Amino acid sequence: MAYKGLIERYRQYLPVTEKTPVVSLLEGDTPLIRLKRVEEFIGENVRVYGKYEGLNPTGSFKDRGMTMAISKAAEKGVKATICASTGNTSASAAAYSVRAGMKSYVIIPDGHIAMGKLSQALIHGAKVIAVEGNFDTALEMVKLICENYPVELVNSLNPFRIEGQKTGSFEIVDFLGDAPDFHCIPVGNAGNITAYWKGYNEYKKSGKSSKNPVMMGFQAAGSAPIVLGAPVKNPETVATAIRIGNPASWKQAEEARDSSGGVIDMVTDEEIIGAYRILAGCEGVFVEPASAASVAGLIKYAKKGYFPKDREINIVCVLTGHGLKDPDRAIKSVEFAPVTVKPDIKEIEKLIKI
Ligand SMILES: *Cc1c(COP(=O)(O)O)cnc(C)c1O
Repeated sequence: MAYKGLIERYRQYLPVTEKTPVVSLLEGDTPLIRLKRVEEFIGENVRVYGKYEGLNPTGSFKDRGMTMAISKAAEKGVKATICASTGNTSASAAAYSVRAGMKSYVIIPDGHIAMGKLSQALIHGAKVIAVEGNFDTALEMVKLICENYPVELVNSLNPFRIEGQKTGSFEIVDFLGDAPDFHCIPVGNAGNITAYWKGYNEYKKSGKSSKNPVMMGFQAAGSAPIVLGAPVKNPETVATAIRIGNPASWKQAEEARDSSGGVIDMVTDEEIIGAYRILAGCEGVFVEPASAASVAGLIKYAKKGYFPKDREINIVCVLTGHGLKDPDRAIKSVEFAPVTVKPDIKEIEKLIKI
């Protein structure tokens, strides 16, 4: 049967009824790609898979939550949506809102949004307002607006976002036949780790899996409030999607860590860019920097000898967003810029070494 989007596929696990007008761009159903070159860093008993969420309609996992949030908003008769965003939420909110015939407003931190994401919000017709401040300031502003105007909040504070995003775990279990042993994921506002953990638990309860994975969340070293145990005033990292100093789902992320026996740790920008280059340059998988935090964390923990050696294990890394979101970062991260030559075949031949 033709794929109809994640709400239709997982309807029985989601808070929707016949009356819910489903607003979908056929999000979800993303591939779990074996990462054999990454496995070389980890060990022979380990299979590593990347859940390539960059292949969602607007290029990030945010679409999983947005199809739910906008469908439920449409059910209520909402006319306008608002979100604070490091970029991907605004791209997704703009696309799904316009599809549902709603206006969308997005508040972004001035100067810290990747070009791909900004272009999406604009072309989908969102009203984009940049505030002088970071994501945390933007989210505070959005919460205040929601108190005073009839506008739907579509940040991950919206519980329907989490509901939609939990389907990522369902897909992983459906693909592998059981839950993986370890689940590595970047952590920003911490909605996604919350959602995956909820999904794994629900699937286990319904008998679809025999176990839950150990949850391993990774923040960027310059914006690692959960690791440090206190909000970070001025978060900094090249991984702009996780440049968040005071995560909304902080407690839930700690809950996922503690009840799974996992960790929330940090990786440096250098480690993030290293993993980013391995994924693109060795695996052919182009992700945005924040997404590479999951693989950077995996490599860091493998180096420490964290993973068991005495049995076969499956590890899933969530690759949260597409590399084309942030082309500037890609160009800045390679050693060789394009070479310009005269239109002379000899000049070109000099550069080709096979
Ligand atoms: C939103 C986002 C994250 C962080 O997810 P949270 O739910 O905020 O923890 C990571 N990577 C990308 C690409 C994102 O868009």
